[in-house]
Amino acid sequence: MARMDAIDVFEMARRGSVTQGVLAFAAMPRLAQSLARREGTLAYRCAGGRDHRGRPALDLRIEAVLPLRCDRCGEELDLVLRAERSFFFVHSDAELAAVPIDESAEEALLGSARFDLAALIEDEAILQLPISPRHPACLAPGEATNASPPADRRRPFATLAGLRDRLRRASSAPRAAVPATAPATKSAGRRKPRSGSA
Ligand SMILES: [Zn+2]
Repeated sequence: MARMDAIDVFEMARRGSVTQGVLAFAAMPRLAQSLARREGTLAYRCAGGRDHRGRPALDLRIEAVLPLRCDRCGEELDLVLRAERSFFFVHSDAELAAVPIDESAEEALLGSARFDLAALIEDEAILQLPISPRHPACLAPGEATNASPPADRRRPFATLAGLRDRLRRASSAPRAAVPATAPATKSAGRRKPRSGSA
């Protein structure tokens, strides 16, 4: 299960090609740091094409059972993750900056002939993680909101789309070149607005 090679997303969109497979949790260190165990895999399917505006696009589907740790009792907890996302690609930073951050389902990404698809997949899995994973039986009275489905959790992250794109652009170098401290900083940055605005 080797690391997924970088791909030419514009070529993938033009040909309408599909790539699918599995990624080991162990190959996704930023995700793995939130997991109770590193054994296991995440299934993905990426389909290139054009969106409704004719832009080069990618439909991503990911599926996994993530072993998390319950925040209350400390025991393992399986999260069934299933997500589908649509992206479209732009050719330059300037073009990306000109894309308004809105509530639309598609997210703009800076495309590349050497796009790190594995990093995108890992990002999407991380976005699906609950802030405070807990067994249903471990919820204290009045804490039922912690069990809200992923769809409800996405909205707080909508404003972070821009931040994420900036981070992605800043770290467009191969993953190996990213300092070891980067994942923690990035993760904390994502979660900050949730607690800060309460
Ligand atoms: Zn628990």
